[in-house]
Amino acid sequence: MDSDNADDVQAGLDSVEAELEVVKLQIAELLEKQASLTSKRKQLLRRLEEPCDSTQASGSGPAMTKQELLRYENDDFSWSTELEQNLKDVFQLSTFRPLQLKAINLSMSGKDLFLVMPTGRGKSLCYQLPAVCSEGFTLVVTPLVSLMEDQLMYLKSIDVEAVSLNASSSKEHAKMVLAEMTDSKAPFKLLYVTPEKIAKSKLLMSRLEKAYNAGRLSRIAVDEVHCCSQWGHDFRPDYKLLGILKRQFPKVPLLGLTATATGSVLKDCQKILCVPEPITLTASFNRTNLYYEVRLKDSNSDDSVSDISALIKERYKDQSGIVYVFSQKDAETVSADLQGKGVNASPYHANMNPEDKSQVHRKWATNKIQVVVATVAFGMGIDKADVRFVIHHTISKSIENYYQESGRAGRDDKPADCIVYFGFNDIFRISTMVVMENVGQQKLLTMVDYCQNVDRCRRSVIAVHFDEVWDDEGCNEMCDVCRHGNDYITVDITQHAKDVVQIVELAGSLDEKLTPLKVTEAWMGKGPAKRRKMIQTTTLSRLEVEAIITSLLLQGYLSEDFSFTPYTTYFYLKLGGKAPLLKNQSHSITMKMRRTGLDANTVKVSQVKTKEGKRSGDNAANSPVTKKVKRDL
Ligand code: ADP
Ligand code: MG
Ligand code: ZN
Repeated sequence: MDSDNADDVQAGLDSVEAELEVVKLQIAELLEKQASLTSKRKQLLRRLEEPCDSTQASGSGPAMTKQELLRYENDDFSWSTELEQNLKDVFQLSTFRPLQLKAINLSMSGKDLFLVMPTGRGKSLCYQLPAVCSEGFTLVVTPLVSLMEDQLMYLKSIDVEAVSLNASSSKEHAKMVLAEMTDSKAPFKLLYVTPEKIAKSKLLMSRLEKAYNAGRLSRIAVDEVHCCSQWGHDFRPDYKLLGILKRQFPKVPLLGLTATATGSVLKDCQKILCVPEPITLTASFNRTNLYYEVRLKDSNSDDSVSDISALIKERYKDQSGIVYVFSQKDAETVSADLQGKGVNASPYHANMNPEDKSQVHRKWATNKIQVVVATVAFGMGIDKADVRFVIHHTISKSIENYYQESGRAGRDDKPADCIVYFGFNDIFRISTMVVMENVGQQKLLTMVDYCQNVDRCRRSVIAVHFDEVWDDEGCNEMCDVCRHGNDYITVDITQHAKDVVQIVELAGSLDEKLTPLKVTEAWMGKGPAKRRKMIQTTTLSRLEVEAIITSLLLQGYLSEDFSFTPYTTYFYLKLGGKAPLLKNQSHSITMKMRRTGLDANTVKVSQVKTKEGKRSGDNAANSPVTKKVKRDL
């Protein structure tokens, strides 16, 4: 390319980048507008005294109005007494969770239904309980044999008869199941199959046909229903063939379940499954009882463990919780540190032997251990209702992961806290870990953005991430941003960006790679004297420097540069796609920062006081770590 041509391309790129910037701002504005309109609409609806759904859930579907749907929250159906009884006696549960009763009543009434509900909230009960309360059996399509086995084990433990057919079923077993399908004396209530079986086994289809004609096929549940759609994230070709079920058995109600499906994915599933007019129930991602908070970790003196132990001994005295850490080594050391400070903690990670693991789990479940200091290996099968706090000693690798891990708090719907410690260096520790994952970096940056954010409600960040329409009223000051209000300032960091970019550029020209730590130190004037003379150093505090570098990474002025050796992966910073924009005189960059200067702090203390009545009045802005941030930028 000649240089004129290159200039043209560069100019074109600049203008596209600038336009993208504008679009991004417009999107942010529109999202805000959407939130405020949604909340206005709700107020107006309330004034009309139209009974509308709670913030927990919304129902839709062409065949039914909201008022009609409301009826299904009642317990005056012919099957209601039996449902209650079996919920308590068989499933040993005392109450329904949001949307469960509605979904079950709809399905018991013979309606086709899509149920969208976050993982761990109890979708399975919505077909297991109807199965127990209906004649004949429920057909459950599940994508994974392991999921099937989990459910069979659970059902066995509560004495509900269930069987399965999959590729590893023995001939005898399959023969018995197929025979029992049409036997009115057959004991099983649920039949689990993989989609492959439906697609490939003519014998199974013909037995289902017979069972249907004999009135023994009471319900069809399609778990992880988003697998039908190519637009979803887990497309499974065999799910495409499940339309045969509704075509062959039109009178049997179908229940599709998923944790993650946007409207367009559901539309697609509806078409593929040949469900004419399903009702869609969507549980909100909003866990109203959880308080979300981000605390900053200081790279100079990481006293997060002292902070955590103080929290556990004071605010969470005698309460159960989890501390999630980055690595197995961290699990051991953080646990030992906490023990040293008098906390009843135990480590948990994948590398422990199975007996030790189950012992820790058991002791924690029975409150003999207060805190488990765990890697994400502590997840599967964790179902303790009264977890009052989930503290992340290190950020999660994505918002999805964070939502799931922190979501183990407050399953009993009572208040609980989700606190994450956000440290600059942790970003790069995780980055090198997820480097091989498809879109791993991108997902990590969503988590970093969640933490770095100071002006948007934490819930709204999560909701927007999950494609949910957010309503400003939905938080109720149950996150640090909402509780402590607009305590941030917008600062122009254009000059800072130029200084940092110059440092990275200079290193590049010297054939040198800089780690984030090196960039930080160079900018703060701690690098070699030779370099100090060639760059513009800063007097900003370390936390400010780290926040700015993080922001430049998030905004694409810097980007990651990995280098691999057989033993380890190194993380360096290089110029990002937007760095050339800084050459443009009129280009400016801003970022929002927490305002935590001394004077601002005085104001905040009084704000906190007025809100003392609530739980978790403490916040990061008052922690010793962030007090160090100066205001004058
Ligand atoms: P999902 O499929 O939505 O991810 P599951 O059906 O596997 O969730 O349920 C997760 C956990 O929630 C299970 O351990 C289940 O026993 C529990 N659970 C379901 N419904 C209730 C309820 N009404 N009350 C208490 N626990 C429940
Ligand atoms: Mg499930
Ligand atoms: Zn909020």
